[in-house]
Amino acid sequence: MPDDFRIDPWGSSVLYDEDYERLIKEFGIQEVSFTDKEKMSTNRFFRRKIIFGHRDLDAIFKAIDNKKPWAVMSGIKPSGPFHLGTLTTALEIVEFQKMGAKAYYCIADIESYEDNGISYKDAEPDAVDNLADILALGLDPDPKKTYIWRQSEERIVKDVAFKVGRLVTQNMVNAIYGEKPFGLYLAALIQVGDIVLPQVLDGPQPTIVPVGIDQDPHLRLTRDLTRRYYKNFFVPGATYHKLLQGLDGSDKMAKRNPNSYFDFNESLESIEKKIKGAFTGGRKDKKEQEQLGGQPDICMIYKIEMYHFEEDDKKLEEIYKKCVSGQLMCGDHKNHCVEKVLKFIKEHRKKKEKLIDRARMLLNIE
Ligand code: SF4
Repeated sequence: MPDDFRIDPWGSSVLYDEDYERLIKEFGIQEVSFTDKEKMSTNRFFRRKIIFGHRDLDAIFKAIDNKKPWAVMSGIKPSGPFHLGTLTTALEIVEFQKMGAKAYYCIADIESYEDNGISYKDAEPDAVDNLADILALGLDPDPKKTYIWRQSEERIVKDVAFKVGRLVTQNMVNAIYGEKPFGLYLAALIQVGDIVLPQVLDGPQPTIVPVGIDQDPHLRLTRDLTRRYYKNFFVPGATYHKLLQGLDGSDKMAKRNPNSYFDFNESLESIEKKIKGAFTGGRKDKKEQEQLGGQPDICMIYKIEMYHFEEDDKKLEEIYKKCVSGQLMCGDHKNHCVEKVLKFIKEHRKKKEKLIDRARMLLNIE
């Protein structure tokens, strides 16, 4: 990572293991401790070290212990269907809601306009589709447990952007984001509004924002502005997960490289083909695999199972052991993985179909 390295929340930051360590040190992210993991033992992202760092998670534990309200806030940019990356954040929100948080879920249509040029109107079908996805994954839309908004329709987030905007200088945004179109700086201020919305709406309370590490610049900006403008608020915290690399072995899942990921609306045949073509840690032939064993740590089949498609820790451990000891062959493993993924996708689609109207209603979209 070069000295002037900046993470770009709208761009294509590629991060390696040493980058995570450096980010932890340079930006004061706290490492997930053994006790954190114990307290979060129901959450596989913590157990499996996919969530590797956080800011102010302790405030959440305190709120839980003292039976005080707390919030989980996150959202989605409505610019396409759910995929493996958005799935991670969505499941984290659902998990925190199950632990007692009120969930605040934002449809970031101002951001999809500023970043991708998609009009608010054109973003509506994806907004409905994305919301139906997270409902199918288990988000409980009961208004006591969830608040959902579209940035373009939510006065609070626009007000916050103007209020904190007077504390923001060109130097600050340049240092955090580098040189960007002005609209993206505005979208960043709207995101500050999204993150403090739970406290503006329902009073001061600890808030956790589960994100991929590439979104940390928004958290740093929000934390700084919350300290300076909303002095009676809790400074919003965050959990950080590691980003999945591309299925095909490329550095990152990216839209311009369709083999690097699959989305939830893709044909089952296409998903199967991509999984079968995924990059593995396998050896050049069967004999060598039996002698040397495979390398699950660099294998995308193992990784997508670890993130999403193998719930059972014991089974996952078994897969790992069988791979490194040369008892598992990549072809067989890929076939099993295809079965698991397609089963998940089919069940998910069935649940989601029934939730489309609910999503429309929640977003007030005809
Ligand atoms: S056997 Fe499975 S986990 Fe091991 S390298 Fe091959 S595909 Fe990956």
